[in-house]
Amino acid sequence: MDNSYIALLPLVSSVPIIILGVFAYLKNRKSTLNILFFLFSLAIFTWLIGSYGLFTSCDNYSRAIFWDRFVYSSVVFLSAIGFHITSVFSGKQRKQTLLITGLYAVSLIFFVANWQGGLIDGIFLYKWGCHGVAKSLHSVFLLYFGLGCVLLFRNLFNYYKTTESKTEKAQAKYMFVSLFVLAILGSTAFLPAYRIVIYPLGYLAGVLSAVILAYAVFKHHLFDIRVISTEVFSFLILTVLFVDIFLYRNAEEFIFKLVIFLGIAVFSRYLIKSALKEMKDKERIENLALSLEKANAGLRKIDETKSEFVSTASHQLRTPLSIMKGFLSMLLEESYGEIGGKQRQALEKTYETNERLIHLVNELLDVSRIEKNKVQLFFSYCNFTETAKSVFDEFIVVAKNKGIMLSFEKLDEDIYVYCDAEKIREVIQNLIDNAIKYTDSGGVIMNLEKIESEGIAVLRIIDTGIGIKEEGLDNLFKMFYRDKGAQKIMTSGSGLGLYIARKIAQANNGSLVAESAGEGLGSTFTLRIPLGQKEKQEIPAEE
Ligand code: ADP
Repeated sequence: MDNSYIALLPLVSSVPIIILGVFAYLKNRKSTLNILFFLFSLAIFTWLIGSYGLFTSCDNYSRAIFWDRFVYSSVVFLSAIGFHITSVFSGKQRKQTLLITGLYAVSLIFFVANWQGGLIDGIFLYKWGCHGVAKSLHSVFLLYFGLGCVLLFRNLFNYYKTTESKTEKAQAKYMFVSLFVLAILGSTAFLPAYRIVIYPLGYLAGVLSAVILAYAVFKHHLFDIRVISTEVFSFLILTVLFVDIFLYRNAEEFIFKLVIFLGIAVFSRYLIKSALKEMKDKERIENLALSLEKANAGLRKIDETKSEFVSTASHQLRTPLSIMKGFLSMLLEESYGEIGGKQRQALEKTYETNERLIHLVNELLDVSRIEKNKVQLFFSYCNFTETAKSVFDEFIVVAKNKGIMLSFEKLDEDIYVYCDAEKIREVIQNLIDNAIKYTDSGGVIMNLEKIESEGIAVLRIIDTGIGIKEEGLDNLFKMFYRDKGAQKIMTSGSGLGLYIARKIAQANNGSLVAESAGEGLGSTFTLRIPLGQKEKQEIPAEE
């Protein structure tokens, strides 16, 4: 009987699995999973090498018995290590500690029993090889082996079902298939122990499961290994070159081939290193982008909640403030009877404060509408000169009381613009209010002109007030910004007025900019709005 080619089956089969095991270990020596997989591949390697020893010793009883016991000394641990791997892989290691320990302990008992001749005794020769004959304990061992397999497949199946990650699902799937092939195909190698003759195909299980696992490593980063094509190609080239070294015809050729091999090995190492670095950089950037995206989404959510809160709170505040305003007005108009001088003073202060609160609440509502892009505009062709003049008139008394000059420079003809007149009115109000607020001496000039060639009306509000520092000019239109100088003059401002004003100017297809020569040198605010035509005035307002 010529066993020589059959004996090669386990020998060939042992190579890929041990390469994969060593590779996984070298890639991450600290990972329990990789270490376990290395031990597992070592056990399979021992099984297959031992089988080679057995197949080549069939004609020598004691050698054959030795090799078969050698085979079993690793096989007894297979299901325990396999279960341990799936336990770590599925994150159940802690919960299953007792089970893992129990399986190892039983494996150890079988290990000892095996060397004492408890598992096999005698050699059964058959057509393709030989095998030790099973003793009664062998069947108990098979039961235990089967139980270990059932437990490990249960782990993988449950993990496959529960994990949400696609990659982890794929990893579990390939691990399941690979171990299943190994268990089913590999188990046929037990049959000759019961004198059942079968072609020793079971020994190819090592190759098959290694190929499936290698695919999972390559494609789905099983064992957390990112294999790069550079590594695989370098490995193949180096293997071919290595084999080629030994096909030399003379010493010179041997040295030449060896030098080439070493040169390519060094070059491959460098290539793999840079490819790995590039891959890691790419991964890091991808991860960063992912976490940034998540953080952004979180921030957006918080921002939305904040806007919602501000908007709801402002709405709730508006009604009681309006009611207070109504009653205060009636009190001041003496609708509820006469009021004395001191009472009037107190009531007027309350009225003023209430007005400021209403103003603030309205500003907050405007801001939340702007942020939610929900500003409703009612466009029409309107008389810009008239709007500006009416605001100007409102402030004549205020300026007079403060002792500063207020003037309005305009063209003889009225200027028409296309805008939401009510909103633009609020912008001008804010600008004049600020100009007067932040000017202690001198005055405020409102200048209105049009630049026909550009199709715009330009309203400038020029004051001789506290002016604006250069850094202030950059921040003026940001929400809640208030200059230190301004805070001293007016403690109660909100810093929202200019932010809203610019947004409204822009929504009206215009612009609002500020200029100042510096602190104490006055400021100029320029509002630009597109021109409209007088005759189009009758066009109905649109949203
Ligand atoms: P508030 O006036 O309530 O503080 P605004 O948004 O209207 O809020 O103005 C923001 C800041 O811009 C003010 O606090 C002030 O520092 C500055 N500012 C606005 N108008 C003028 C002006 N005419 N002169 C100098 N500084 C000004």
